[in-house]
Amino acid sequence: MKNYLATLGILLIIAAVGWQFKNKFFSTPCAEPTPYNLGTFDTKFNISKKYFLDAITEAEAIWEKPSGLDLFVYQPEDSSRDVLKINLVYDYRQQATSKLKSLGIEVSNTRASYDSLKEQFEKLRESYEVEKAQFEEKIAKWNRGPRNNRSEFEELQSMQDDLNEKADEINAMVVALNRLVATLNLSVEKYNTVNTARGESFEEGVFYSDGTRRSIDIYEFSSREKLLRVLAHEFGHALDLPHVADSKAIMYELNQGNTLKPTQADLAALRAKCAE
Ligand SMILES: [Zn+2]
Repeated sequence: MKNYLATLGILLIIAAVGWQFKNKFFSTPCAEPTPYNLGTFDTKFNISKKYFLDAITEAEAIWEKPSGLDLFVYQPEDSSRDVLKINLVYDYRQQATSKLKSLGIEVSNTRASYDSLKEQFEKLRESYEVEKAQFEEKIAKWNRGPRNNRSEFEELQSMQDDLNEKADEINAMVVALNRLVATLNLSVEKYNTVNTARGESFEEGVFYSDGTRRSIDIYEFSSREKLLRVLAHEFGHALDLPHVADSKAIMYELNQGNTLKPTQADLAALRAKCAE
């Protein structure tokens, strides 16, 4: 009987500790995996849903493997309010990246990348201005004349197409340049687009939470590695991790490292969060 009571006492203590443990960690992301599924999926990225989901699974493993924790779980049928929605949103950001890629330009968050892009931008802008002046002169001449010369008309049309293409390229560079100015904290004027206006800031992705709904929006990536890193970064924010100072870290404020492993700083941030 004595033994039985002692055992019961121990069981009660374990139960109490277990209850406290559960209560303490119930709302923290380390105790239970966060369910997620896909929200918006824009096909203009030219990737399949499988490609995106595979990348998400791999980004998930970036945190789960080294920590040994089950932090996220894909639940395609979950429609509850607290499910984390992952959205792939196409807008001017990816458009600019695709345009630059088609020109063989890949931008990284470094001063060297900024300088080289700025040089290309200035060259292109200069030739654009020269061509534009020539075009305007020819248009003025055309408008003064009989306006019936077919070859002249075709020349004007091809000049205009060329100018529009150059304007697209310039605008894509402006998006990338302004993004670098902001992320690298450069004290230079914002660049202006030609034939269009845009003042938004550039982010590759964002984690959003209002306390009841959570989402990750992905706007831009230039390679699979970049996609994995931005997904892992936003997953980190979904775990309530802050930015860390290590420039190679997943949780560094800029996506400029090239490893797909969390650094010591990342793991320390996760450990600290899970110990709360
Ligand atoms: Zn961030």
